[in-house]
Amino acid sequence: MRMSNLFVQTMREFPSDAEVISHKMLARAGYIKKLTSGVYTYLPLMWRVLKKVENIVREEMDKAGAQELLMPFVQPKELWEESGRWAAYGAELMRLNDRHGREMCLGPTHEEIITSIARDVLKSYKQLPTNLYQIQSKFRDERRPRFGLLRGREFIMKDAYSFATCQQDLDKEYQNMWDAYTKIFNRCGLETKAVQSDSGAIGGSVSHEFMVITDTDAGENDVFYCEDCDYAANSNHAVSKLPQATVDGGYNEAKIVDTPNVGSIEELSKFLNCPQTVICKALVYIVDKAPVIALIRGDRTVEETKLMNAVGGLDIRIATAGEIEEIMKENGFNAIAGFIGPKGLKKYGEYEVKIIADKTVTELKNFVIGINQTDKHLVGANWGIDVDMPAQIEDIRLVEAGDFCPQCGKPLKVTRGIEVGNIFQLGTKYSAPMNAVYLDANGKTQPYIMGCYGIGISRTAAAAVEAHHDDWGIKWPLAIAPYHVVVVPVSTQDEEQMKVATEIYEKLLSEGVEAVLDDRNERPGVKFKDADLIGFPYRITVGKTITEGKVEFVTRANGEKIEMTPQEATQKVIEAVQSIE
Ligand code: ATP
Ligand code: MG
Repeated sequence: MRMSNLFVQTMREFPSDAEVISHKMLARAGYIKKLTSGVYTYLPLMWRVLKKVENIVREEMDKAGAQELLMPFVQPKELWEESGRWAAYGAELMRLNDRHGREMCLGPTHEEIITSIARDVLKSYKQLPTNLYQIQSKFRDERRPRFGLLRGREFIMKDAYSFATCQQDLDKEYQNMWDAYTKIFNRCGLETKAVQSDSGAIGGSVSHEFMVITDTDAGENDVFYCEDCDYAANSNHAVSKLPQATVDGGYNEAKIVDTPNVGSIEELSKFLNCPQTVICKALVYIVDKAPVIALIRGDRTVEETKLMNAVGGLDIRIATAGEIEEIMKENGFNAIAGFIGPKGLKKYGEYEVKIIADKTVTELKNFVIGINQTDKHLVGANWGIDVDMPAQIEDIRLVEAGDFCPQCGKPLKVTRGIEVGNIFQLGTKYSAPMNAVYLDANGKTQPYIMGCYGIGISRTAAAAVEAHHDDWGIKWPLAIAPYHVVVVPVSTQDEEQMKVATEIYEKLLSEGVEAVLDDRNERPGVKFKDADLIGFPYRITVGKTITEGKVEFVTRANGEKIEMTPQEATQKVIEAVQSIE
């Protein structure tokens, strides 16, 4: 490809709406163009990268024994009703009507479709296990599509689904996919950490996310991990052992005290001159539509996904001041947030008030707690005497750095991660409600034991930019770079320079190297800047030293510049390209 023909326009500045590096760089270097919020055109350079990621994924999935198909992007409501997700999936599901008024959706994922296909085809245990996958655009009406390709509304995903007759076979396929994912991300030049995670709206029990670890804002997940053992988990799933803390308030008797305008835990602990750890904090949530009071030790934070799962809900938010007021009124109280307690809270409209206690509060003695009276607290409270111990005790606590590893007891560390892929054990979550069954060896019908396995193709490419760049631009890993090398004649007016550069370029092409010849009549500074921004892994510069038979060979990854002969430079690129897995 000659640079003068390459469909690319680099920009001097980063686009103003870009917050993270990959978005800034990909837009500025001419890889993507925004059409509307969260929807991008993949321009020729980007499409080359995406096809390379796709092909790596394809090769490893095929090697792992999975078979590729392609399902429709538009899906009918009926299948989603069978699984129960038409009602359960929230605003992320893009719903639409056809001309007959039939309701449809744009596929955010394909469990329903693949399960309906499987139940028509996989009728006998003899046909199992099997694993089917596709690579396709998905649509999710994301709440905050703000990170370019990292979180688009339309994005490319590889999604695979496995069907088995028993847990043992699912376990085997899960491990098989785990191994394939490890190879895929390695080949894409990405180091990943597999972390335990919440299974979310997809459901199921065991699941892992493959995270690219980063210290930037692009990492939307907090990951807790142990350096001494293999424990690693997303914060929405992580558990820990707690450091020692004072849990006895030391009060001799239970009594109601005035706590005027002391609505936060910090203020309350200062006002009462007690550690935060002896306060039982009560937070009011709305899970789906029902009220839930979460009790947790004063110094700790509720992990909302864990709380939502403890209740078995699909959506969670903190209650508004108005809702708290209504809940109070309905149960005969008059208190605002900061003074809430579990005692006496029974119902809210058609719902019962659920009380969920984190494990941390069960150890409290002579503690401080709200009693649904504004500007008052009860001090010296004890479970079973002053307040009933809630029936449901769960781990709903957000882990904090410095907590101890649940496996080996060493201090946990925290970092951020970009989720590039995940693997789920679904079990019969879809096959049971959708009556997707096969005949076992005894002629009995059984639901499939399923797994599903996703990789964000476009997110993986963007994550590679997050992981590999400097102030000047992208440093593509060779295996997914749009082109392997750019050959830059310093002056296109110089006949000798142009001749050698063209010879190098043509030799590279003939050896299967993806090369670009920067034949533009531009200043060398402009060409070098573009080369760095676009992120060609190698640059061969043909300048004045060609009179001594030398060119400059530049490696983008480490900035190394070496003088060598044109033959040596050409050979170096050919060898590097041949060594790509
Ligand atoms: P997230 O928590 O980041 O929203 P998810 O758990 O919703 O991700 P899955 O439903 O498991 O993601 O989808 C499989 C893969 O698809 C993810 O691992 C991720 O790489 C990719 N993916 C999901 N949502 C997006 C998006 N909005 N833009 C780009 N890639 C995405
Ligand atoms: Mg999501």
